[in-house]
Amino acid sequence: MTQPQYLWAPTPTYSLPIHGSEKRLPIHRLFFVGRNYHAHAVEMGRPVDKSVERPFYFTKAPSTLTPSGATVAYPPETNNYHFEMELVLAIGKAGFRIPAEQAHEYLAGYACGLDMTRRDLQLVARDKGRPWDLGKDFEQSSVASEVVLMPGQVLENGTIELSVNGEVKQKSDVNKLIWNIREIIADLSMFYHLQPGDLIYTGTPEGVGAVVPGDRITGRIEGVGEISLTVGQPV
Ligand code: MN
Repeated sequence: MTQPQYLWAPTPTYSLPIHGSEKRLPIHRLFFVGRNYHAHAVEMGRPVDKSVERPFYFTKAPSTLTPSGATVAYPPETNNYHFEMELVLAIGKAGFRIPAEQAHEYLAGYACGLDMTRRDLQLVARDKGRPWDLGKDFEQSSVASEVVLMPGQVLENGTIELSVNGEVKQKSDVNKLIWNIREIIADLSMFYHLQPGDLIYTGTPEGVGAVVPGDRITGRIEGVGEISLTVGQPV
């Protein structure tokens, strides 16, 4: 079979390191759950009533994926660059319309994630009824740690915490997710045929805030691991 000839080098396969393995986890898509901790929904001025709402989602391009430990340039066209510490699910098996009670079968493992956000652009978009892309889906905005393989295991609880320059800014527990891991997989799989390598950032707890060049972000999730990011000078 002849190999296709491309005009330029095609997009690489994006991937994450796997804890304790030489292999890497290839990435398919990046999904993000919005407003999934009550205290964060309230601080954003949009409280959630689970009895009458379903979760909502946005996506980012896999090219935004950035490894833990990186230094990223302060992004362009913002004056309010925010951190959001999140538990990340790695899907390991294809599934569509997955019942919540079977959701664990589709879990490959977990990572720590940072959903970096140009908050000023996001809120302008939100308040004008426009898409969030400029606030969310920008270069180097999806930070992820190595993946801890825990196939079939649902993480029921564990401290989730983020510090800036050693000062704790976010501290909660993943048992405070409004829609839990089973419910997210079940609901998202109503809209998409989930695929191995899909990552789901499950939402951030309260305490989000701005960072500036020179700041160092560190985060951890009990039972999963740690993540860090340094904010560099603007490009
Ligand atoms: Mn988020």
